[in-house]
Amino acid sequence: MREVLVISGKGGTGKTSLTASFALLAENAVVADCDVDAADLHLILTPTVKEEHVFKSGHEAFILEDICTDCGACLNLCRFDAIRGTFKNGRIAYRVDPLMCEGCGTCARFCPKAAVELKERVCGKWMISETRAGPMVHARLGIAAENSGKLVATVRQEAKKIAEREKRDLILVDGPPGIGCPVIASISGASDVIVVTEPTLSGAHDLARVLGLAKHFSTPAFVCVNKMDLSVDGTEKIIDLAKTAGATFLGGVRYDKAFTNAQKQQKAIVETDAACAEDVRKIWNRFLSSQPEKEQTS
Ligand code: SF4
Ligand code: SF4
Repeated sequence: MREVLVISGKGGTGKTSLTASFALLAENAVVADCDVDAADLHLILTPTVKEEHVFKSGHEAFILEDICTDCGACLNLCRFDAIRGTFKNGRIAYRVDPLMCEGCGTCARFCPKAAVELKERVCGKWMISETRAGPMVHARLGIAAENSGKLVATVRQEAKKIAEREKRDLILVDGPPGIGCPVIASISGASDVIVVTEPTLSGAHDLARVLGLAKHFSTPAFVCVNKMDLSVDGTEKIIDLAKTAGATFLGGVRYDKAFTNAQKQQKAIVETDAACAEDVRKIWNRFLSSQPEKEQTS
């Protein structure tokens, strides 16, 4: 089973649209949307949710009002300024600000009345859905919630379970943008990385960064350029960069308004008869033909 991660150094390169197309072309894939901070693969693949699970990570403190004597000791104990004192019924009542609480547990440990409870923090949710490209695992991180790396790991793990259970030979991962914690959580253990970029200065800069990351994890890297005809020089630079980094250049997708129109219609570009759909098919076929024969079918 292979786990192919599609990433870009930044958002807006067409990564998610291409991932949706690859998923449809692959036919036997499990799709994992690891862009948990700004998931949007569902906008194209329109999943039907079959299971929904709460994602918990870390802890947060709660003051039990009926036990708390409002002594105020916890106010000075909290190094994160998460305890708030507010006037209530003529006295100061102490409560925890959940956005500030780091779940360190100090207040719970030293409260003289044992009036603080530490609870697991609900940070978001993850879902298993059906799509026209096959099963999909996706997630949504809560507002101001942290630990997206752990949620990414959960999504990957669940996608792997489905692939094993349903004997699917490919997990196709829509990765997060950037090179931060969620990307690192996506790339470690991936079989291959496909980097989607644009023929611009920032595209080349971001490509160099993600290729460096792939190299760090010794993950074979592949590169494709979206809107390649917008800058011939820019595309040549991308090809050079890929070559220098030891990555395989898979090709480019021409600029075509049909690409955006397909998104608006909640379609992947390969579900249309646009000229650029052929570019995407070629990229996917080149990727497949670059895989060792045994692994294409295992
Ligand atoms: S230390 Fe305990 S009893 Fe005192 S205000 Fe804080 S929660 Fe309430
Ligand atoms: S758990 Fe730690 S961070 Fe949260 S309120 Fe208590 S002392 Fe502050």
